[in-house]
Amino acid sequence: MVAWQLRKYFPLRGGVLSSHIGDVRAVDGVSFDLRRGETVGLVGESGCGKTTVGRLMLRLIEPSGGHTFFQPPPEVARRLTEIRDELRKLNPLGTETLAPALKAGAGSTDPTVRESRVLLKELDQFADQYSLYRLSPAKMRKLRGKLQIVFQDPFSSLSPRMLVRDIVSEPLTIHHWGNRKQRYERVAELLTSVGLNPEHLWRFPHEFSGGQRQRIGIARALALRPDFIVLDEPTSALDVSVQAQILNILLRLQREQNLSYLFISHHLSVVRAVSHRVVVMYLGKVAEWANTEELFEHPLHPYTQALLSAIPIPDPALKRERIILSGDVPSPASPPSGCRFHTRCPMVMPVCSKVEPPLIPTGRRGHYVACHLYPGASLPEYGLISSRSPEVIEIPSTAPPVEGGPLSSPTPADLPTPSTPTAAEGRPTPVDPVVLQRLVTGWRDAPVEPTDPAGGPGPNSPRSLAVPPEPAP
Ligand code: SF4
Repeated sequence: MVAWQLRKYFPLRGGVLSSHIGDVRAVDGVSFDLRRGETVGLVGESGCGKTTVGRLMLRLIEPSGGHTFFQPPPEVARRLTEIRDELRKLNPLGTETLAPALKAGAGSTDPTVRESRVLLKELDQFADQYSLYRLSPAKMRKLRGKLQIVFQDPFSSLSPRMLVRDIVSEPLTIHHWGNRKQRYERVAELLTSVGLNPEHLWRFPHEFSGGQRQRIGIARALALRPDFIVLDEPTSALDVSVQAQILNILLRLQREQNLSYLFISHHLSVVRAVSHRVVVMYLGKVAEWANTEELFEHPLHPYTQALLSAIPIPDPALKRERIILSGDVPSPASPPSGCRFHTRCPMVMPVCSKVEPPLIPTGRRGHYVACHLYPGASLPEYGLISSRSPEVIEIPSTAPPVEGGPLSSPTPADLPTPSTPTAAEGRPTPVDPVVLQRLVTGWRDAPVEPTDPAGGPGPNSPRSLAVPPEPAP
């Protein structure tokens, strides 16, 4: 999947005639890709647009702009990234500013308009082939089985009037999958795969615990053998021990079926445990995007640094310097000019309120950041030092030191290569329930007492933290 400059504006209406008075810019130019068998974590504060991105990628809502490309070949995905970067260089203020010139016809002599037109035409051809938003309703309906979602609240996402048998078989029925006997056999198989029993077929959702209801939701999402699942905070309504069980089920199913997950969560420790790459959003935009370990070890964007500093360490002997952000999150109906984070950023500079920093590769493989602190964000090749507005650029003479090595100009090797991730790329192996238990309880950094030589577990040993089995209803 490739999210390409996704935008979603919700109209604001007011006055006696309920006329259009503005837009809530919930998602404003979000781009990232998601490979087969990969988990991408999407993090950010409430209201930053995470869930809207998930819904856009499933086409549960229609976008105001941009595309979601479904399984484009790797060379097309790579070209889409190039087109996005080339358009950004040509139009640092966004292609929307070109709209009048593009509408004016093919006779424009402005080279920027001509080059942009060629790139947009190429994009249009790819969109015709791979964009979800260009599919007819009939084709989209056929594709629905490949795109699924697991909702946050396992209590409200299941109909209280339907038996589990009917809830899980509903997608199969809608898509005319097999006959009734085959469908019920498939439902029993799905329930077994998520750790429930076939006798649970004949029960109603209220007869289950929260964790078991979430398993039913996962079974329903798996019914049509999807390729891509949006996990919209799938564990945040559950208690800690059940969270670990659900995460383990999701990770096992991913390994067995090569599923791609978009994992939306507030819980950064859980995101670190399950994700291959992480996208950090702030007020409808991507602030930073990197491989998981890279992002957690070398966060570059001030917002990411503040988020990570808030992860609690449950050990009074260990202290982390907390970055407290001042002010409230601005309204997406009137986002700040320039960098959207500038009203709260502890590193703000004069340029930040005037020029929006683009998301650019940092020179560290697969690491992108949108911040003027890093030289690449304002390089002439990105059009931000231009003859049009040189007076607004006040670039710091030296970028702040980056732990782990200096930033350098991006090379083609820095661009992400959409392909199936390999073991060498550091795929996480968060399948140990003990490790998950420790992560979701914030015990990642706590010392582990070694198992004593006689074989008995210490007080902090994995055995003493084992996830208890969930009681049968
Ligand atoms: Fe802070 Fe400026 Fe970077 Fe925005 S661009 S995060 S305001 S330093």
